Amino acid sequence: MPWMVGNILKNFCARPATRPYPSVLREPYPGTRGNLAFEAQNCVFCGECERACPSAAVFLDTRWETPEASEPTWYRVFDPYSCILCGACVEACAYEALFLGGRHYAPVSRKDLDYDRVESW
Ligand code: SF4
Ligand code: SF4
Repeated sequence: MPWMVGNILKNFCARPATRPYPSVLREPYPGTRGNLAFEAQNCVFCGECERACPSAAVFLDTRWETPEASEPTWYRVFDPYSCILCGACVEACAYEALFLGGRHYAPVSRKDLDYDRVESW
């Protein structure tokens, strides 16, 4: 047993071998495809992303929020569970409204679509 004392003391003073995830996140590597980000203020509702997507994960939709509304509300709809992060929509978007980011999606218990309101159209 006495021969273990050195190791025990060393381990008491050493930094932890693992990260305290999820409170401390690792910085993504350059070029990591973790999520598809959307800049709604740049979107012009052209539909090029919808046409380019091979898995129908992104599309445009309009909704009449109230019967009295003079025009519909415009949405870019995204299904993160169908998206394969291929980047085809990013290449197709000429308005820099879409880009691939390094952050992976958080775990969920329900698979809901993301509805992002497009204001500038
Ligand atoms: S995200 Fe880009 S490609 Fe898609 S509708 Fe908006 S402007 Fe067009
Ligand atoms: S990254 Fe690829 S799969 Fe995901 S929405 Fe864009 S085109 Fe579709």
